[in-house]
Amino acid sequence: MAVTLNSGVVMPLIGFGTFKIRGKELVYSVLDSALAAGYRSIDTASVYRNEGDIGESLKELLPKYGLKRQDVFITSKLGPKNQGCGRCRESCLQSLHSLQCDYLDLYLIHWPGTQGMQPCDARHRDLRLQSWGEMVALQKEGKLKSIGVSNFLQHHIEDVIDTTKHTPAVLQIEYHPHLVQRRLVDFCRSKGIHFQAYSSLGTTTDSNTLLTDSVVCKIAKQRGVSPARVLLRWAVQQGIGVIPKSTNSDHIRDNMDIFSFSLSDQEMVSLNQLDTQSHLCWNPSQVL
Ligand code: NDP
Repeated sequence: MAVTLNSGVVMPLIGFGTFKIRGKELVYSVLDSALAAGYRSIDTASVYRNEGDIGESLKELLPKYGLKRQDVFITSKLGPKNQGCGRCRESCLQSLHSLQCDYLDLYLIHWPGTQGMQPCDARHRDLRLQSWGEMVALQKEGKLKSIGVSNFLQHHIEDVIDTTKHTPAVLQIEYHPHLVQRRLVDFCRSKGIHFQAYSSLGTTTDSNTLLTDSVVCKIAKQRGVSPARVLLRWAVQQGIGVIPKSTNSDHIRDNMDIFSFSLSDQEMVSLNQLDTQSHLCWNPSQVL
């Protein structure tokens, strides 16, 4: 399953998340499992400090699966400390170098703010607009196939569109049954922006509240699937992209199997009703 972005580029609805996966040996082995399981999209970021290991691993692994660079969709992100036109360009070129790529399929501004400033600092706006302008230029040069944003709220996105007349291809943001962002989903849909969820499985934590949620577990048991598959299916059934992360090859395989079943309307409603507006990751609502 895939979506066509506003850039005309086709992006798989499921990708492989790599936050907290670091070190060549581990990166190589999880990417090996992911490619074997059929993932053809990989999500990274300069702040994950694994782009170099991903680049090296892909160089070795793609031939093993008879794949070429163009068979894999690679996303990376501009780190919050590198906002602004000069730094954005430098950081993007560094990501390309580390990933050993001539182009990225998708490049996102990771966060609407700039690291080291108070959330109410007026410079955030100017710097992220500078970054966006530079990304538009990098896209024209062919170094970025698609450009988008992450952790931006509606007002951040509207400002980007109104000021630059360039609409992001993707919004990547936290989204799961404990944080249902319906209005933001509807807004993105109205603008032709693909909505991609992160932390769909409750992120990497010792006290995972999503995978152990009683309603999620009940639906999983009734359907004979894992709670992870219920959570991922809930998102993709809404046309929302997912990028589950795992270092366990059984989980990596399991998470791919979300197109062989569907949830009933009642199950979707039950999952939507779990919304508590709980953020597991960062909350961008304070960033001006
Ligand atoms: P996820 O919500 O994907 O959850 C990962 C956790 O779920 C791990 O502990 C993993 O453990 C466990 N898990 C995975 N599959 C299964 C399964 N089938 N059964 C049981 N447990 C499972 O975490 P992330 O927060 O990492 O989000 C996914 C990706 O989204 C990131 O890796 C990153 O690429 C992106 N992201 C982007 C952000 C942004 O600001 N733009 C912020 C956060 C994430 P195990 O390894 O044992 O399987």
